Amino acid sequence: PLQAIMGSAELLQSGLVREEDKLEFIGRIRSESSRLVALIEDIIHLSQLDEHVELPTEDIDLFERAKEEVRILTPVADEKNISISLHGDAAVVEAVPQLVHEIIYNLCDNAIKYNVKGGSVDITVGSDKSKGWILVEDTGIGIAREHLNRIFERFYRVDKSHSKETGGTGLGLSIVKHAIETMNGEIKIESTEGKGTSIQVFLPR
Ligand code: ADP
Repeated sequence: PLQAIMGSAELLQSGLVREEDKLEFIGRIRSESSRLVALIEDIIHLSQLDEHVELPTEDIDLFERAKEEVRILTPVADEKNISISLHGDAAVVEAVPQLVHEIIYNLCDNAIKYNVKGGSVDITVGSDKSKGWILVEDTGIGIAREHLNRIFERFYRVDKSHSKETGGTGLGLSIVKHAIETMNGEIKIESTEGKGTSIQVFLPR
């Protein structure tokens, strides 16, 4: 992103950009700056997780948290004509609030980002005696088998050519995996190319 920001700024400064094109260059500086901020934030989150600092836990209802993430992401889903809905019941776990946010937000954001126009995202929350869980199902592009065990690696992206359009950093799922490990949870993923992906996260109660 920095190359694009510097390139656009230099061109604007040189006076070579036509008046009617200026807004486009300014827009590019803005969107590339947002990508850079997202990237830096993700790197900071990951390095904090790498430090293994003991983070304070509290009782968290996964259903209430998911409701909040759905509220934040509904405008993003609306823009792509994707329906997002929440099902299930209260599921209280003892967990780190910031990490639970990162997990649910990243999974739902991906389910929207890698979906198709008119598709859907279904989030279900539930619990049993020992754990609470959240399931995120999408009707998106899916992930081919050969990529499935690599998508949790840092900076790994299936389709690198579209990274600018989707605006991702390739770090979201690494953060999810790390956060789950920190809280002694588990993650399961199933995906079919062209059909969709479902990811379920279990956290001890
Ligand atoms: P990104 O910032 O690229 O979204 P992530 O670490 O969150 O990074 O995901 C890594 C890669 O896994 C993505 O680039 C994408 O190719 C793939 N991926 C993640 N979630 C989904 C999904 N729900 N459907 C299809 N592909 C996905």
